[in-house]
Amino acid sequence: MDTIGVLTSGGDAPGMNAAIRAVVRQAISKGKKVKGIKRGYEGLLQSEIIDMDARTVADIIQKGGTILQTARCPEFRTIEGQEKAAKICREHGIDGIVVIGGDGSFAGAKCLADQGINTIGIPGTIDLDIACTEYTIGFDTAINTAMEAIDKVRDTSYSHERVSIIEVMGRNAGYIALWCGIANGAEDILLPETYDYDEQKLINNIIEKRKKGKTHHIIINAEGIGHSTSMAKRIEAATGVETRATILGYMQRGGSPTCTDRVHASMMGAYAVDLLCNGKSNRVVGYKGDEYVDFDITEALAMKKDIPEYQCQISKALALL
Ligand code: ATP
Repeated sequence: MDTIGVLTSGGDAPGMNAAIRAVVRQAISKGKKVKGIKRGYEGLLQSEIIDMDARTVADIIQKGGTILQTARCPEFRTIEGQEKAAKICREHGIDGIVVIGGDGSFAGAKCLADQGINTIGIPGTIDLDIACTEYTIGFDTAINTAMEAIDKVRDTSYSHERVSIIEVMGRNAGYIALWCGIANGAEDILLPETYDYDEQKLINNIIEKRKKGKTHHIIINAEGIGHSTSMAKRIEAATGVETRATILGYMQRGGSPTCTDRVHASMMGAYAVDLLCNGKSNRVVGYKGDEYVDFDITEALAMKKDIPEYQCQISKALALL
């Protein structure tokens, strides 16, 4: 292993820069050269490859987004695209690549490994929806950003005695909604994994809590559930209580990463380089039981992760009035 490439792919997540920095500096400390691949697999197919040294990653550990930028690349899903990508890696002398992204990016890394390029995946997604790891880079920053925003909505919701529906990210995974639901003391949390689409139950809960003296009501809605603004209109019509929707959107992806994200990203980045230097390929880095671990990509992608039942129960229990 002489030259290691690094790319970020899929949705961006705060902490990706800390991971890039760790890959670059750990590789250099082991005597390797490093190439940065811009805009994920799309940039790889366009040969957007830059030399990186210890200085290239100075002053980025605290920055959100990804200095290498990211993209989604349909062409890379084809065998022709994967062959072309492997050829470009060889032309640039890249023997191994660290891919920072989600499950889709790992599937891509496996394809690249099948083409003879050593690959290691690092879980970078705000959604925490990667089964082989208890932690994904970006989650902590995203939930803290969302929590602070929801606190602000709560202030105005209380003042106006409103129902507030706050939509957070998580199309297929409700971890952000569940964590914020508990942290923000929400009355209802709608998760893609458990929501039964019985809106009448939600309406009855609001009416019942009003009767008991609750003057405002926070509903955290994971984006996968449906349209929060139209839901707010239906709830207002059914309950007679002013109901407003707030969609937090992309602000949840941005911002300076928290300490937790910076540390996990740094550790995982360095761990990925160690794996490559030890001759490993086609692996995904994870964090389990206070340890950094790694799994075969195919096995990692086949793993399943359930939303924690006990956390769901407690979130409901604590919302009782
Ligand atoms: P996020 O969790 O933020 O969505 P992700 O890594 O899962 O991140 P995807 O859009 O699914 O995001 O994947 C990123 C890129 O990885 C795709 O645009 C594509 O280039 C590549 N990719 C995804 N799935 C495959 C696959 N099955 N085979 C080859 N390449 C893939």
